[in-house]
Amino acid sequence: MDWQELEKKYYMQVVKRLPVTLVKGAGARVWDEKGKEYLDFVAGWATNLLGHCHPAVVEAVTRQVATLIQTSNQFYTTPQVQLAELLVQNSCLQRVFLANSGAEANEGAVKLARRYGQLKLGGAYEVITTFNSFHGRTLAMTAATGQKKFQDPYRPVPEGFVNVEFNNIEAIRSATTERTCAVMLEPIQGEGGVNIPHRDYLKRVRAWCDEKGLLLILDEIQTGLGRTGTLFAYTQAGIEPDIMTLAKGLAGGVPIGALLAKEQASVFAPGEHGSTYGGNPLAAAAGYATLKHIIDHRLPEKAASLGGYFISRIEDLKREFSIITEARGRGLLLALFFGKDIAGELTTRCLERGLLVNPVKPNALRFMPPLIINEKDIDEAVGVLRDCLAGLVGSR
Ligand SMILES: *Cc1c(COP(=O)(O)O)cnc(C)c1O
Repeated sequence: MDWQELEKKYYMQVVKRLPVTLVKGAGARVWDEKGKEYLDFVAGWATNLLGHCHPAVVEAVTRQVATLIQTSNQFYTTPQVQLAELLVQNSCLQRVFLANSGAEANEGAVKLARRYGQLKLGGAYEVITTFNSFHGRTLAMTAATGQKKFQDPYRPVPEGFVNVEFNNIEAIRSATTERTCAVMLEPIQGEGGVNIPHRDYLKRVRAWCDEKGLLLILDEIQTGLGRTGTLFAYTQAGIEPDIMTLAKGLAGGVPIGALLAKEQASVFAPGEHGSTYGGNPLAAAAGYATLKHIIDHRLPEKAASLGGYFISRIEDLKREFSIITEARGRGLLLALFFGKDIAGELTTRCLERGLLVNPVKPNALRFMPPLIINEKDIDEAVGVLRDCLAGLVGSR
């Protein structure tokens, strides 16, 4: 069966796929239909924090799928409450709402901020977001996402969002008006190119929000759950958000999203928000098992030390290849920048050599491997990268 031909015939052509049909995964490895093995440093867009088909996730899903898959939110269900309790016990937030994706969680965050604006800020409704951010693909989230390429095909995009420069507190200050109800940021911009703000940026944004009575929404969909070396990236910035969103890795690859809020920001009344599948027993059980494993096995600390090792190894590469201009990242969210637009070609060559990486920019690769990798996996990936770079540009 030529699955790739069939895809071209039947599926909406919304992505440029790599010419590989994946059929199986285990740990940090996936296999294609011909049996070729790949080391996966993309991890399902940073979703497979525990790698592919981790026993903890498989066990929880298998048990739950044979017990209760979906009810409706008219009833209490136990996995939903267990996951909410675990999230609250391990974060600075007190209330949880579960959704099915990152974009849906972010929509909920913006609705919550607008409701807060109606009730407490005299009808303020505008949310300040940043250029090069990424908040999801729904219509409102394209407006929140400060990138023209996501907005232009769908104008007019919903109003109520102001996009300003990232890592610039003055830009937020001067965009603030009596209409502003919240500022929404990624602690580190992921899709935007692993952009790490200045050490004081988030502290200053927090102080500004406090001064003006605005809500601070942190989108930790990519940075959260250990990826950047702590369970949530906000602790590294020394601040607490009023609202936080999670998704991606929360259920070990099973679709889920979460909206968390401080008690004082949690202003939804019954009937004001909802989701048919949000918090269903199956996804929530996967989420509980994943989060518990991340916490019990101290994966955030492991991500921090593995990230340090990874950065030191790609710093070695940088000394070897003058085309590398920068290596940066936190924990296991890393990027490698080049002086030329070689990321696409490098991705193809790595793929041939059995390594999956992401060309986050024409001149940059992003790495977001599962948190369960080890130093040997990193050595293997760096070895493949070295060979592919040498093949492409020759050394020095
Ligand atoms: C992936 C991502 C989203 C969107 O999540 P979906 O599950 O694709 O809707 C939102 N924000 C950030 C920071 C992301 O990385």
